[in-house]
Amino acid sequence: MEVIFLGVGEACDEKYPNTSLLLYTGNQKTLLLDCGFSVTHEFFKYEKDVNKVDIIWISHFHGDHFLGLPLLLLRFWEQGRIKPLHFVGQKGIDYVVRSSMKLAFPTLADKISFDYIFHQLVEGEEKEIEEIKFAVASTGHTQPNLGVRISDGEKVLYYSGDGPPKEGCYEIAKGCDLLVQETFLLDEDIYGHGNFIDCIDFARKEGAKSFAAVHMQRDARSSIVSYFEKNKDKFNDLNVIIPIHGDKITL
Ligand SMILES: [Zn+2]
Ligand SMILES: [Zn+2]
Repeated sequence: MEVIFLGVGEACDEKYPNTSLLLYTGNQKTLLLDCGFSVTHEFFKYEKDVNKVDIIWISHFHGDHFLGLPLLLLRFWEQGRIKPLHFVGQKGIDYVVRSSMKLAFPTLADKISFDYIFHQLVEGEEKEIEEIKFAVASTGHTQPNLGVRISDGEKVLYYSGDGPPKEGCYEIAKGCDLLVQETFLLDEDIYGHGNFIDCIDFARKEGAKSFAAVHMQRDARSSIVSYFEKNKDKFNDLNVIIPIHGDKITL
C-alpha cells in the first residue's frame, strides 16, 4: 500500500493544505481519505487520471474534510470520468455530497456522466466495498466523526479523521501498519481534539508499526515538531513521523 499525504493541516492553516491521504492499495484500488477546501488542487499534482479513484472516504462533515468535493467532481466531469465512484462515510453522506455539489456548481449533478454510490457505515459492523475492508468507530470530536480501519488484505491503515480515540477506536486500530492520527496540540487536553503525547500512547498500546501525526493546530505545530526532534530517543519503539504534504510512504 502506498500512502501520499496530500495535506496535513487543520482547517485554517495557510501553510499546510487540509489533512487528506491518497492511497494506492496492494490490490490495485485507489482511495481518497477526506477532501477539504484545499485538497483538490493538491490531488491533481499527484494523480492526473480522473478514472483512478475508486473510493472516497469522508470522516465527518466539517468543511476542511469534505468541501473540496464539488471541485474534485467538477474536474472529474470536465475530463470525462466514466468509472463509478463510491462514497463511504457516516449517515448523511449522500445528502452532504449532493447538497455541497448543488451549492458550488448548481447544474453539475445533472451533467455528471458516472454513477456515484453511497455507503453509510456504522460502528460495530465490517463492510467490504470494492475489495477493501472497512471498520469504523466514533472519535471524541465536536461533530460526529468516524475513525476508520482500511485493509486491502495485506496491509492495514487506521485514519482518525478528527478527534482523540474513544473505546471502539482502540479495537479497530489494533495491529495496524500505519496509524494516522489527528494531534491538535502537544500535550494539552482540549475538547474535540487529540494531543501528540496521548496519541503516541494510543499507537503503542494497539501495536501500530508506524504513527503519523497530522492536523496540528497551526500555532502549535512548531512546538510539537521541536519536541519530537529533541526527544527522538523516547520513540525508539515506534516509527513516528510528522509528514508534510507530498510525503509518500510505502507500507
Ligand atoms: Zn479538521
Ligand atoms: Zn472537524
